[in-house]
Amino acid sequence: MMDMGYGDYQLEAAVSKIHASEAAWYVCDEAIQILGGMGYMRETGLEKILRDIRIFRIFEGTNDVMRLFVALTGLQYAGGHLKELQRAMNNPVANLGVIFGAGTKRFARTVGLSSGPSLSEYVAPQLRDNAALVSKSIQNFGASVEHLLIKYNKNIINEQMLQRRLADAAIDIYASVVMLQRRLADAAIDIYASVVVLSRASRALEKNLSSAGIEKKIADLFCNEASVRIATNLSQLRGTQDLKNYSTMKAIAEEVLNNGGVVQNHPLG
Ligand SMILES: Cc1cc2nc3c(=O)[nH]c(=O)nc-3n(C[C@H](O)[C@H](O)[C@H](O)COP(=O)(O)OP(=O)(O)OC[C@H]3O[C@@H](n4cnc5c(N)ncnc54)[C@H](O)[C@@H]3O)c2cc1C
Repeated sequence: MMDMGYGDYQLEAAVSKIHASEAAWYVCDEAIQILGGMGYMRETGLEKILRDIRIFRIFEGTNDVMRLFVALTGLQYAGGHLKELQRAMNNPVANLGVIFGAGTKRFARTVGLSSGPSLSEYVAPQLRDNAALVSKSIQNFGASVEHLLIKYNKNIINEQMLQRRLADAAIDIYASVVMLQRRLADAAIDIYASVVVLSRASRALEKNLSSAGIEKKIADLFCNEASVRIATNLSQLRGTQDLKNYSTMKAIAEEVLNNGGVVQNHPLG
């Protein structure tokens, strides 16, 4: 994107940084595991690589902070659209087009008529099923962002950025906000990674490269697994039990913090 002269690539850069640094860690760790005891030994050379790549998840912006950036950028963008709609509602007669357009989109989504933005024209014909899967994820992602913004209002954006103190300890949104942003960011990362994988496989197929067959297999596998992860992450934005778990995590963290260390005693004394 930078080579093509786009000025707005920060989001893609953040997603790529998170995905690549975590994939590198996973691959090296698995390589050590496959080699067993020898993988752990200095002579094999992998333990040094593992130590060296551990820093990638920390420097150039820690992955936690990058995830916040990804989630908040998406929320702010969608928030702008909802604000526009809110403004239009103040003067419905003059803004019938905006209101009707938004209403039709939501209705189509609710009754399952819309399958999201179509990606099929951008991919090789052999990858159309995968493109439809990614389109569906994008659609669900949009609906989830909207749900978060309507339920939590601008607090979902402000809480991390402003580090505001709790106004009321009982308000659940503050307990959950970090986990919600994380789930959202992980879904966005998987969507973007799927699009990139499809783009790469499409090029291999269209150019009839000798590796096209395996690129297609990898794309099938990645898009299918990613769509399951995306659905899980998005469902965890709404699940009653998930929201309860986030509150419990916060309660445990608070106890540890107030205690200055581990709270529980060893049950055997
Ligand atoms: C070998 C090495 C080389 C380096 N080289 C450079 C360099 O060339 N240039 C440079 O500028 N810097 C460099 N750094 C610094 C590096 O960029 C920082 O260490 C990194 O940005 C993390 O900042 P921190 O260490 O202050 O961690 P902190 O900011 O204290 O973070 C500690 C932990 O809290 C998490 N955290 C912090 N804020 C939040 C939040 N709001 N929400 C959720 N989690 C949060 C972080 O993700 C992290 O896990 C280098 C560091 C190392 C170790």
